[in-house]
Amino acid sequence: MSETKSPGRHAVVIGGSMGGLLSARVLSDYFDNVTVVERDEVGDSVEPRKGVPQGNHVHTIYGGGANVVERLLPGLFEKMVSEGATECDFSKGLVWYHQGVWKMRTDTGLTSFWQSRAFLESHIRRRVREFSNVNIIENCDAESLLSTDDNSQVTGVRVTHRNDDRTEELPADLVVDTSGRGSKTPEWLEQLGYQKPKELAVGIDLAYASRIYERPDDSSRDWTVMGLFPTPPASQTSRLHLSDRRTTLDCQRRGISGRSSAGRRRGIPGIREKPGTAGLLRSDQRRQTTDTVGDVSLSGRGSAGATSCCRGFRKD
Ligand SMILES: Cc1cc2nc3c(=O)[nH]c(=O)nc-3n(C[C@H](O)[C@H](O)[C@H](O)COP(=O)(O)OP(=O)(O)OC[C@H]3O[C@@H](n4cnc5c(N)ncnc54)[C@H](O)[C@@H]3O)c2cc1C
Repeated sequence: MSETKSPGRHAVVIGGSMGGLLSARVLSDYFDNVTVVERDEVGDSVEPRKGVPQGNHVHTIYGGGANVVERLLPGLFEKMVSEGATECDFSKGLVWYHQGVWKMRTDTGLTSFWQSRAFLESHIRRRVREFSNVNIIENCDAESLLSTDDNSQVTGVRVTHRNDDRTEELPADLVVDTSGRGSKTPEWLEQLGYQKPKELAVGIDLAYASRIYERPDDSSRDWTVMGLFPTPPASQTSRLHLSDRRTTLDCQRRGISGRSSAGRRRGIPGIREKPGTAGLLRSDQRRQTTDTVGDVSLSGRGSAGATSCCRGFRKD
C-alpha cells in the first residue's frame, strides 16, 4: 500500500477480466480492501472461459498498453515471454503484406506482445492476487446495487454465489463495474430512479477464426508475426503468429457480411504453400461483436482459405 490518503475502506469491482483486474490493482493503492466479483470459475486456469469467449484467439498488447500494464505490474512481460509469449518489433519482427506489397522491414522500437488472451489474463490475475488487500471471489454473480434509503448513494453490491446459491451483501465505498458489454448497470440505475445512460454502439463487423498448429522445426525464419492485410475490395486479414517452441497460432478476421477471399490470398507473392491440417491441434471461431448480422461459419473451404498462412508456410 502506498501512503496516499484513502478515499474509502472497501472497493468492489464487478467482473474479473482485464478491466476488472487492472482496476483492482490500481484501487489496491487507495483502498484498504478491494473485492473483485467474477461470475466465471477462474482459478489458475490458462484455458478460455465462458465470460471471455475470445480466449482462444491471439491477443496483442501494443507498446502503449504494455507500458501501462508494466507500470502497474513490473516484470510481467519478461515473465510472460519466458513462458512463451512473443515479443515482436512492429516492423522488424512483424512482416506485413499491405495494399498489395510487402512492407519494408526495419527496427522501430515499437514493441508488441502476442499471446492467447487466456494466457495474458492468467498472468495478470496471478500478479494481482499477490496484493494482500485484493480478494477475487469467483463463481459469483453481481445481482444488484445496494443503496441508501433515498437512493442518493450506492453503498455496495448484492451478489449470489453460484456454488450454493447463497446471497450476500458486500458493502462498499466505491463500486466499479467492469462487467463488459453485458453490464447491468444501466438497468440497476434505472431501478434506483435514475435515467439509463445513453449508449453508443459501434458495429465493427469482424469475426475471428483461429487454428493452432504444432510449430514446425525451422530456425531459418527471421520473423515472428505475419500480417496479410486485404487489398480492397477484399476484406479479410490473416495473421500468423509463431509462439513458443511448439505451437503456431493462426488467426484471421473478415467482415461477417463479406465473402471469403481465399483465392486472392493465394495470389500474394511469396506465399508458396497451401494450408493443410497437418499438425493441427485446435480450431476455433468466434463472432466478435454485438450488433453484427447473423452468425458465421468459417468451416470448410472458407476456413482453409483463411488460414492460408499456416504450417509449412514460407515467405521468400
Ligand atoms: C475476438 C476478439 C479479439 C480481441 N483481440 C484483442 C487484442 O488483440 N488486443 C486487445 O487489447 N484487445 C482485444 N480485444 C478486446 C478485448 O478483449 C476487450 O477490450 C477486453 O476484453 C475488455 O475487457 P473488460 O474487462 O472490460 O471486459 P470483458 O473482457 O468483457 O470482461 C467482463 C467480465 O465480467 C464478468 N461478468 C459479467 N457480468 C458479471 C456479473 N453480473 N457478475 C460478475 N461478473 C460478471 C465476465 O465473466 C467477464 O469476466 C479482442 C476482443 C475480441 C472479441
